[in-house]
Amino acid sequence: MARLILLLGDQLSAGIAALAEADPADDVVLMAEVAEEAGYVPHHKKKLAFVFAAMRHFAEELRAAGWQLRYTRLDDPENSGSLVGEIARARAALDVEEILCTEPGVWRLRQALAAVPGLTLLPDNRFLIDPAGFRAWAQGRHQLRMEYFYRDMRRRTRLLMDGDQPAGGEWNYDHDNRGTPPHGTTPPPLPAFEPDAITHEVLRLVEQRFPDNFGDLQPFTLAVTRADAEAARDHFLAHALPRFGDYQDAMRRGEPVLFHAHLALYMNIGLLDPLDLCRRAEAEWRAGRVPINSAEGFIRQILGWREYVRGIYWLHMPHYADANALEAHRPLPDFYWTAETDMACMRDAVEQTRAHAYAHHIQRLMVTGNFALLAGIDPYLVHVWYMAVYADAYEWVEMPNTIGMALFADGGIMGSKPYAASGAYIDRMSDYCTDCRYRVKLKAGPDACPFNYLYWDFIARHRDRFARNQRMGPIVRNLDRMSDDRKAEIRADSARFLDALVPAGSRWGG
Ligand SMILES: Cc1cc2nc3c(=O)[nH]c(=O)nc-3n(C[C@H](O)[C@H](O)[C@H](O)COP(=O)(O)OP(=O)(O)OC[C@H]3O[C@@H](n4cnc5c(N)ncnc54)[C@H](O)[C@@H]3O)c2cc1C
Ligand code: SF4
Repeated sequence: MARLILLLGDQLSAGIAALAEADPADDVVLMAEVAEEAGYVPHHKKKLAFVFAAMRHFAEELRAAGWQLRYTRLDDPENSGSLVGEIARARAALDVEEILCTEPGVWRLRQALAAVPGLTLLPDNRFLIDPAGFRAWAQGRHQLRMEYFYRDMRRRTRLLMDGDQPAGGEWNYDHDNRGTPPHGTTPPPLPAFEPDAITHEVLRLVEQRFPDNFGDLQPFTLAVTRADAEAARDHFLAHALPRFGDYQDAMRRGEPVLFHAHLALYMNIGLLDPLDLCRRAEAEWRAGRVPINSAEGFIRQILGWREYVRGIYWLHMPHYADANALEAHRPLPDFYWTAETDMACMRDAVEQTRAHAYAHHIQRLMVTGNFALLAGIDPYLVHVWYMAVYADAYEWVEMPNTIGMALFADGGIMGSKPYAASGAYIDRMSDYCTDCRYRVKLKAGPDACPFNYLYWDFIARHRDRFARNQRMGPIVRNLDRMSDDRKAEIRADSARFLDALVPAGSRWGG
């Protein structure tokens, strides 16, 4: 009897476990665009179009390769609206008993699918370590430091290894990843892919069904096929990877991508293979075309951080979603959706997010994330925002980055101290402050950079907790040395600024 092979929207890989187990002659592949997944957070229009267009193109590839396919479109009048509903409809129509699916990347859906009778979940073979392997690594460790995990992954995959030693002599070249590009440096433009008839149809659907969602749908130039994603990959390796290492932490007005890969969206949906990408980056270094700080820095992000955050997600769900160690309860400010703020750094980060469904890591962590941390915004609301606005956002990767890395809401599972910074950090790494209504050098008063007083207000609010944290000790001692008048000034400036914030309300899930 035929089996049903359920393929989820971010499982667009020909070698994925459920397809590898299946038989094209007998089994039927089920793919479905459903309202439940499209609407559980208010996704950016570009993200919706990217996922649906990539799904439809992948379905065409499967058909061309001889697979029998059952594909439900979002606007199909019979569409049940949920994946479980689509399984039930397919079952009734096709008389199948057994269903195969590769593990989804979100806890909620995993629970729902695990409860479907006859459905077997297979481990996702696109990752380099599975949740059980990560659990074994984590067992008995006092702290789950990414650096040690990463070194184990280097040994395990043999990436960037010379025998049992790290290639180039060091495990980590992070200290060489903090340059800022000199004036006049021109980053390579991203390759742009013209939408074809399938993508145009999806663009019309998204505009019609999600007119009020956040984000600009046009221009839409993302790759939606494997071939185009591979072209984007090759472009990155040839033109941006050589300087990726030097300028990884830099931010520039009007340059959303700089020398970053802009490939997470293609890896996360299944169009690019992470291990293959790492091997290609290593080959560029071995061929002498890119420096070691670029190759190692890039591989560390994928082999280290990407795998590590997934391990943390599965280790700590479902409780991770509710984590709020710093008891932050402020509503998300409206400017996260509108970009209407005088803070030039926040405005630029939100504007480019709205235009491209993209911001690079330091903007996510040290601008929008840092502000939410300092202002004490409710982690769940911040999580919904990050899940909604980026084309690469899936819960297994977004949630630990937001709840753990950016907001320290997990109380220190992911990081030994919060990534909190005043305006000086943003000024050092960007050119935002030269065009800001606030003055980054001022510490107090209505013209001072809000990051400056919010930073100390944050430290003061959590003084007792941070006093117990070895790495925060010197900062707490600096606070303690301040006069009472100075502390009162910080409190007053912060209260004035925070009280004036307009909450986002429920417009976009705020
Ligand atoms: C608050 C916050 C939310 C984030 N949400 C997401 C998300 O939803 N999806 C997502 O893929 N990444 C997320 N990240 C991680 C990182 O910011 C993005 O992977 C990266 O910006 C994607 O752009 P890029 O492809 O140009 O990456 P590059 O900077 O060029 O890095 C190369 C690759 O390394 C991987 N990578 C780098 N940093 C991380 C990280 N911290 N965690 C996991 N993978 C990493 C990505 O696959 C990325 O494509 C988030 C980070 C923060 C601080
Ligand atoms: S002065 Fe402060 S608010 Fe303005 S851009 Fe610089 S860091 Fe951002």
